[in-house]
Amino acid sequence: MSQTSTCSRRRFMGTTAKWVAFIPAAGLIARGAAAQTRLEETHPTAVALGYRHNVADVDVTRFPKRNTPEGKTQFCDNCIHYNTAEEQDGWAPCAIFPGQTVAAKGWCNVWVVKPAT
Ligand code: SF4
Repeated sequence: MSQTSTCSRRRFMGTTAKWVAFIPAAGLIARGAAAQTRLEETHPTAVALGYRHNVADVDVTRFPKRNTPEGKTQFCDNCIHYNTAEEQDGWAPCAIFPGQTVAAKGWCNVWVVKPAT
């Protein structure tokens, strides 16, 4: 095998290794950015579940449970699906809306109490 061929192979392997290392890192960056997208109230699933950024805007005719004494204590930030550990500026990821964040003082019809820690 010639020295030129060995050199080319080393250069190729070095370049390839750099790209292989870069691709997963780029994926993490992309997923992180996607997780920062705030849920729009017009999102079809948000509309179906009655999600509103501010509980005062919930349509209690469609979702009367939000208007009960127990319902009035329900907010995204005390829902099991709200990822409090990643909350920033009153918004955090919600398991029901992958890649989206919801408002701490929002609400939707699949609210479930967050267990005490
Ligand atoms: S599932 Fe919970 S955290 Fe997510 S939008 Fe509904 S009430 Fe808020």
